[in-house]
Amino acid sequence: MERQLQLGDNDALVALQQAWEKTLDVLSTQVNRPSFESWIKPVIPISYEYGVVTLGTNSRFAKHWLETKHLKLIKGMLSAHLGEDLEVHLTLLDGQSTDDEIHAISPEVEAVIKPNDEKIYLPLNDRYTFDNFVVGPSNRLAHASALAVAMGPGKTYNPVFIYGGSGLGKTHLMQAIGLHILKSKPDTHVAYISGEAFTYQYVTALREHKTQEFRRKYRNVDVWLVDDIQFIAGKERTEEEFFHTYNALYDTKKQIVLTSDRAPRDLKLDQRLLSRFECGLVTDIAKPDLETRMAILQKKAEAEQMYLSDEVILFIARMIRSNIRALEGALIKLHAYSSLMKTSVTPNLAAEILGQYFGEQTEGPVDAESIQRVVCEKMNINPDDLLGPGRTKELVLARQIAMYLARQMTSASLPAIGKIFGGRDHSTVLHACNKIAVMLQQDRRLSELVEELAQEIRSGG
Ligand code: ADP
Ligand code: MG
Repeated sequence: MERQLQLGDNDALVALQQAWEKTLDVLSTQVNRPSFESWIKPVIPISYEYGVVTLGTNSRFAKHWLETKHLKLIKGMLSAHLGEDLEVHLTLLDGQSTDDEIHAISPEVEAVIKPNDEKIYLPLNDRYTFDNFVVGPSNRLAHASALAVAMGPGKTYNPVFIYGGSGLGKTHLMQAIGLHILKSKPDTHVAYISGEAFTYQYVTALREHKTQEFRRKYRNVDVWLVDDIQFIAGKERTEEEFFHTYNALYDTKKQIVLTSDRAPRDLKLDQRLLSRFECGLVTDIAKPDLETRMAILQKKAEAEQMYLSDEVILFIARMIRSNIRALEGALIKLHAYSSLMKTSVTPNLAAEILGQYFGEQTEGPVDAESIQRVVCEKMNINPDDLLGPGRTKELVLARQIAMYLARQMTSASLPAIGKIFGGRDHSTVLHACNKIAVMLQQDRRLSELVEELAQEIRSGG
């Protein structure tokens, strides 16, 4: 790389810090106090370079919540204070779990659910309604079964199992069920929980010898929504407890809805649990086709009161094919740019703005080992050296790219990635990720290389 990056440049950081404090003032008026204290206050401004601000959050939940609810405001505020149209990235500064079963659990859960209080659920996002869900061939069956369940919980299909790749609407549909039921029958006890949070609660209960209490909390649940149960699969004791709760609720005809990133038979599940899932309704959500992607863009643009010509919509829909979350991200980016620059969005502008951020997005699980393998092959590096201490220019770059890809393409935490890369510290991984993210925007050849690597990894190396 020709240019030496000045990570952590002091003046820039000071300016960022000041701008962040102003942003905090505004956010504190927009968000309720507990949320502000738990998820916004712990955010740490990490770097500000080349028009890119990186903010560190303490949990995956906080990251997700900020990204979905407040990123626009944050971007706007920071851009206004720092005097340029900024790109804002949130990155995870996580964890230290040692216990095998809570490994990779984010502290989010800690913030939302104290093990001792009565809550056994996470909040629902009020945007995830059926009204806001665009139906197409890829999700028609999943949508229909979700709607049926929402209208008659416990009466039709039980359980409903929805699976599919990341960013295709599983969480949205699941929460739509919860919101719909709460709206029509506010007394219903709807418990929405992620597989991760369930695991955390259970492991905590176990450690504190409170498993009886843990079970009791599930007695009055009417609708049990468990998101991303792949997290539970294969964790022996948690799975056992899940089975127990599942049966207790199922036997009393409570509605159960589950989501996962893969089909039940592909989860490493206990046979008994598998057969229970399979006797309900199992549906998948596939990648949306072009028309559905266009309809989604149309709908989101309307919601943002943003005008986009059909030509632009078609262009974006062609460009981003496999992930609805990425479609949304593209729109927000364009919206921010066009309102800041006071220009309307043309296909050319869209190409320019989006081209650098969105190649085809990833789907399905990718493991760090295949990332390492592909990076070594393509960059002509000896695998031992990749993990070793060597610090030649080529080696450092390859290592950082591989870490960056591991961060982007897998769900591994920073410490976990550090471990896989020869036992490095999580701050080393964070540094690598930030550095590559910044370089990608500066260096076209590098971004082509990284995109090629990602493609290769996705296609199974
Ligand atoms: P998953 O849980 O499958 O990873 P999400 O439910 O979180 O995906 O969806 C990602 C984003 O895409 C969310 O903001 C969601 O509202 C949006 N989304 C997904 N599918 C649709 C759809 N059919 N219509 C409108 N928005 C959608
Ligand atoms: Mg989800």
